[in-house]
Amino acid sequence: MTELHVSAAPGTLYIVSAPSGAGKTSLVKALLDSTEQIRVSVSHTTRAMRPGEVDGVNYHFVAREDFLAMLEEDAFLEHAEVFGNLYGTSQRWVEQTLAAGLDLILEIDWQGAQQVRRLMPQAQSIFILPPTQEALRHRLNNRGQDSEAIIEQRMREAVSEMSHYVEYDYVVINDQFSHALEDLKAIFRARQLHQHVQQRRHAGLLEGLLR
Ligand code: GDP
Ligand code: ADP
Ligand code: 5GP
Repeated sequence: MTELHVSAAPGTLYIVSAPSGAGKTSLVKALLDSTEQIRVSVSHTTRAMRPGEVDGVNYHFVAREDFLAMLEEDAFLEHAEVFGNLYGTSQRWVEQTLAAGLDLILEIDWQGAQQVRRLMPQAQSIFILPPTQEALRHRLNNRGQDSEAIIEQRMREAVSEMSHYVEYDYVVINDQFSHALEDLKAIFRARQLHQHVQQRRHAGLLEGLLR
């Protein structure tokens, strides 16, 4: 994997992970609707498109051979096989977005999160958990976009995925959606108030104060 040169990048990188069905996509979407200056990375995947999904919006949907060719060309910051499909994050897009001073969210699994943390230890990571296993199954069923076999596979893998929550900086329990959204917003808000971030954002103000 190519080394990244983003230490001087002004944007903050966030990693959001969750077992399938915990509400990661809905929460991130609601967060983006209420905040500017944050972008979400559109991953490449070999998974089949779900009804309602749009190529280039939810994912860049690609054939396995095209994904493997991109891998050869070092196009991915991270990649992983999840539920038998390949997923990857575009390295160039991440670099460009952070360099433009924008915060960026990666909705990736725990394997990808481990790779990103190694490359960019300053990344802030958040794990979203459902309140119970039953609620998780309910949400996967209600979403109504995956076959019964796929839901069973996702439930089987949920416990081992959830055991990785200990590797993350923050944990949000998505029981009541509005509460979970407030928790998520609080994490982003706190980060934006961090001394190093404020120093960059308010350089002029600080210069005036400390003259
Ligand atoms: P959903 O999370 O149930 O809506 O299902 P998805 O098909 O959207 O995602 C499947 C898994 O792949 C999840 O664990 C995602 O976090 C993960 N995933 C999605 N995009 C990426 C990516 O670019 N890189 C990595 N490593 N994982 C990804
Ligand atoms: P993920 O991206 O983690 O797989 P989604 O955001 O697609 O999860 O959410 C899975 C399903 O659960 C969706 O149908 C969504 O509307 C629903 N959902 C999300 N959060 C909650 C919640 N707090 N209570 C009830 N249903 C929820
Ligand atoms: P789904 O296929 O249901 O959209 O996503 C399944 C899982 O793949 C989710 O846990 C999601 O976070 C993960 N995933 C999606 N995109 C990526 C990616 O680019 N990289 C990694 N590592 N995982 C991803």
